Amino acid sequence: MFEKVLIANRGEIALRIHRACKEMGIQTVAVHSTADSDAMHVRLADEAVCIGPPAPRDSYLNIPTILSAANITRADAIHPGVGFLAENADFAQMVEEHGHVFIGPTPEHIRIMGDKIAAKEKAVEIGLPVVPGSEGGIEDEGEAIAVAKEIGFPLIIKAAAGGGGRGMKVAESEADLPEALSLCRAEAKAAFGNDAVYLERYLSHPRHIEVQILADGQGGCIHMGERDCSLQRRHQKVVEEAPSPALNTEERDQIGGVVTDALKEMGYRSAGTVEFLYQDGEFYFIEMNTRLQVEHPISEMICGLDLVREQIRVAAGAPLGFDQDDLTFFGHAIECRVTAEDPETFAPSPGRIKDYHAPGGLGVRVDSHLYSGYSIPPFYDSLVSKLVVHGANRNECLMRLRRALEEYVIGGIKTTIPLHERVISDPAFIDGAYDIHWLERFLGLKD
Ligand code: ADP
Repeated sequence: MFEKVLIANRGEIALRIHRACKEMGIQTVAVHSTADSDAMHVRLADEAVCIGPPAPRDSYLNIPTILSAANITRADAIHPGVGFLAENADFAQMVEEHGHVFIGPTPEHIRIMGDKIAAKEKAVEIGLPVVPGSEGGIEDEGEAIAVAKEIGFPLIIKAAAGGGGRGMKVAESEADLPEALSLCRAEAKAAFGNDAVYLERYLSHPRHIEVQILADGQGGCIHMGERDCSLQRRHQKVVEEAPSPALNTEERDQIGGVVTDALKEMGYRSAGTVEFLYQDGEFYFIEMNTRLQVEHPISEMICGLDLVREQIRVAAGAPLGFDQDDLTFFGHAIECRVTAEDPETFAPSPGRIKDYHAPGGLGVRVDSHLYSGYSIPPFYDSLVSKLVVHGANRNECLMRLRRALEEYVIGGIKTTIPLHERVISDPAFIDGAYDIHWLERFLGLKD
């Protein structure tokens, strides 16, 4: 097992990884920007190295500096966390070339799944059902029109290099197609430096359902059930739950089995998530995330597994040591992503935390780096806390979540706690009757 792990990330996820390491008797190295000297994970880590100024490109995305920090501190392995370099295949490769272990999949698998066109081709090859669309990229308007005639309108144009909900445009009719195509291409070029795009049928009322898997690259591969992440704003997840209120046990076992077989076939290693849209009883693959995900705790809560611990174990070469039959799903879990934003306008609200009181009690987990007196820097993602609640069933989970949100005090800044209170009290949410458009309609952003 590793003696020392460098955590190449910040915020709640850096703390999450630090905690798993400490429970495994592993020393931790925090790397941080000058804006994060007072961060909780920096305070708790065994060693800390400042890697540059606040701008992510000068610190958390600065590969040579991070590798130097790993060399100086003699870290055996690097955990990339979520975001920043977590899905950067070149980084994974350089980590290995510099004699450290990358806690994640192989650079080759990251590369394939990082390009959505290549990922979709791979998905078809390993037997996953995909959204009908263009085979590969679209060269020009003529080709787009020809494909559109086959799949019909509305359709969605997606950037091969897209991510984080960006690089997507919907075309309602043939008249919209040329403009949507050129806009998507231009945005993709500007945001990702790659203007390759492809077309997909636009599903009108799907749910976003994703399957968490864990594999050792030595033949061991299990799934941890699904998460329903349909509550989204601007294609970004806001509330997630496991299991999905829309699936029955048969569907769960079926899609879990399809995904594990596919990833075994691929020889995948580490944690990963295969994302689907689910509509009228059918699953359609949209992408695979070759990393830990923000919403991973809800799967941990219903399986009793520590995903980060397992990621570290398999990265160190250990086999999984258990199979699907050893895993039992218990109860229901919901995560609310609490961000430092105005709950009405979503304007960012960084600043100093005056009072802080996290909820507790049975079944309540708060993954957060906040503390009283901490100043949230304005340079990074607005996620400040993940409130994760577990109950024996969905109803118990909802009642517990309601009281946990009531208890939660984050003073001094605006947060989305009031929004979560409204969402979880709505009859449609209570009934589990929502699709990917529900939250935006609820917020009055869509009719
Ligand atoms: P990203 O990598 O940016 O997260 P995804 O491909 O995972 O992009 O899609 C994000 C979200 O966009 C989905 O959860 C869904 O809400 C919406 N979406 C993507 N593809 C389609 C589609 N074919 N039809 C309808 N909605 C879609």
